[in-house]
Amino acid sequence: MSTEQTANATGSCLCGAVQYQVNGPLRSVLYCHCEQCRKTSGHFVAATACDPTDFHLLADDGLRWYRSSPAAERGFCSSCGASLFWRPDSADRLCIMAGTLDRPTKLHAIGHIFVDMASDYYRIGDDLPQYEQNDPRAWVENGDSGNNH
Ligand SMILES: [Zn+2]
Ligand SMILES: [Zn+2]
Repeated sequence: MSTEQTANATGSCLCGAVQYQVNGPLRSVLYCHCEQCRKTSGHFVAATACDPTDFHLLADDGLRWYRSSPAAERGFCSSCGASLFWRPDSADRLCIMAGTLDRPTKLHAIGHIFVDMASDYYRIGDDLPQYEQNDPRAWVENGDSGNNH
């Protein structure tokens, strides 16, 4: 039996100065409409998450961290400006902006969170569940409490 770990997923920023690999499972995708996600991405975000111990950077030349709240930092590429990661200080998970994953992701979206903070120029047009904040029910699928956004 090989101990070699196989990448479950790979991803990068637009310019390639940040590249990563995930060797474990990825959570289903949540759409986050909070103000921080909107201000950093230009719209609402789609994010998956993994166990930080399964996450490996293959290139980090461009990676910078911005402290976006007292409880978390956001990883972005200082070269191309891509928004890539959200990392809580609790380190219980690493959130990854789903659009930075290489296709096929084999993931699917399961809900919207922080819809009470959504902007006013769009409507949520799908029938996925909507939660006002980071409702724990949105995380039930993976048994993740996920309430420290
Ligand atoms: Zn980049
Ligand atoms: Zn958010």
